[in-house]
Amino acid sequence: MNNSKSKKDNIQLYSYVGSQEIFDSVDINFVGYKISKSKDILNWIEKTAQELINNSIIATFIINENHQLVINDRHSEHVQCAGGKNVISAGEISFLIEKKDKISINEISNQSTGYCPKPESWKYVEKVLSKIEIEYPNYFTLAFDFRLCTNCQTINLIKEQVFECQMCETELDLKWNFH
Ligand SMILES: [Zn+2]
Repeated sequence: MNNSKSKKDNIQLYSYVGSQEIFDSVDINFVGYKISKSKDILNWIEKTAQELINNSIIATFIINENHQLVINDRHSEHVQCAGGKNVISAGEISFLIEKKDKISINEISNQSTGYCPKPESWKYVEKVLSKIEIEYPNYFTLAFDFRLCTNCQTINLIKEQVFECQMCETELDLKWNFH
């Protein structure tokens, strides 16, 4: 699968890089819930009987190619949330519901080993969030760098700038390499 840049605006799209087995289990007739205003979050919580913990709820999110925020149950795969399609970003998102009319995003990350988006995808996430009437952080509250091991194909999450495969200790590329 190739990651491509769209010619028009040079936005990097991320295609699914996870296991084939998970990809094969995706029901392409189902995508997550599109969120265009904060009320949609309440509707999703109600419809899917999500359980709030400390007034918070964590969900899986993707930004689809149409620049929409799409969320789904946190235990589901990003590729299901995207209906198997390419994304602009992906990760985990946490909503804080203080009152019915006071919802904010208190945490957001790019943690998706299915798509391995760059931290730089934040600028597009931010644009999408700015259109939803909701408070959100200035940047990913947790930002990850992903690298593919060219020796054993393991997807590595870089910790403390150590560019070494956790499985086989092969040196990893300094640049994002899921091409
Ligand atoms: Zn390796």
